[in-house]
Amino acid sequence: MQRFENKVVLITGAGSGIGRATAIRMATEGARLMLVDRSEEGLQHTRDQLPAGAEVLLRMLDVSDEAAVELCVAETISHYGQLDVLCNNAGIAGGDYGTVQDQNLETWQQIISVNLYGVMLFTKYASRQMEKQGKGAIVNTASVAGIRSGAGGNAYSASKAAVINFTMTSACDLGSHNIRVNAVCPGLIETGMTKPVFDYARANDKEQKLGARCELRRYGRPEELAGAIAFLASDDASYVTGQALAVDGGNTASLNLPGMKV
Ligand code: NAD
Repeated sequence: MQRFENKVVLITGAGSGIGRATAIRMATEGARLMLVDRSEEGLQHTRDQLPAGAEVLLRMLDVSDEAAVELCVAETISHYGQLDVLCNNAGIAGGDYGTVQDQNLETWQQIISVNLYGVMLFTKYASRQMEKQGKGAIVNTASVAGIRSGAGGNAYSASKAAVINFTMTSACDLGSHNIRVNAVCPGLIETGMTKPVFDYARANDKEQKLGARCELRRYGRPEELAGAIAFLASDDASYVTGQALAVDGGNTASLNLPGMKV
C-alpha cells in the first residue's frame, strides 16, 4: 500500500515509541515527513530506521511552545509546499499517583501543557494550511486513560479525556473544510513511556501479568498503533471524523470485574 504517496505528514513525539513506529509506517507507505520531538537523539534514531530514500526533516522543539510550533508548521510548508496529515502524538505521563487530595498544581500544569495545549497548538497552525488545500487529516494520540479511570495518574487521565473531547470539537470546527480529526486511545503498549512498568515486571517475574486483563490477554506493540493511526490518516477513513478509536486489546470493552477472567 502507498496511501501516503504525494502526502506530507507531520508527527510529534516521533523520537520514540508510537511516534517512531508511525513515522516508519507512513514513510513505508510513501509519505514525506516532518518529525518533531524534544529529543534530538530520539529523532536521529528514528531517521536511521526509516526506509532507504525516505524524505524527512527533523525538528527538536517543545510542543507546548506556541512560537516554536508556528515556526515548525511554516517550515514544513516552505520546504514541502503542503501539509496533509498531522499526528499529534507527543505526550508525557507521570505526575501524582495518589488521590485527588495529593495533587500538585504545578504537575498538572506541566502535563496539561504538553498533552493538551501541544495538540491544540499544532492543530491550530496545521489546520490553517489544510483549509487552504481543501483537505486534511489529523490523528491525536489520546489514551484509554481518557475513557476510564485506573490507567494513569489524575492529571494524565484528565489531559487525555480533554484530548478526546478536543478531537470532537475540532472535528466539528473543521469538518466543513474537509479536514477530518480523529483520535486513537492506546491501551498498554511497550514504549519509552511504559519502560519502567515493563522493567519492573520483568525483574520481578511478572511479565505474563502485563496486559493479562485485556480481552486479547496481552499488551500491545507500537506498530499496532501505527497501523490504526495510518488508517485514520488515510483516505480509507474518508468518512470518519470526530471519533476516538480504542486500540487496547479490548480492555475498555469490558467491565473487567476481578475474578471473571480465565
Ligand atoms: P514515548 O515516551 O516512547 O514517546 C513519547 C515521545 O514524545 C518521546 O520521544 C518524547 O521525547 C516526546 N515528547 C514528550 N514531551 C514532549 C514535548 N513537550 N515536546 C515534544 N516532544 C515531546 O511514549 P509513547 O508511549 O510512544 O507515547 C506516545 C503517545 O501515546 C503519548 O501521547 C502517550 O500519552 C500515548 N499513550 C501511550 C500508551 C502506552 O502504553 N505506551 C498508552 C496510552 C497512550
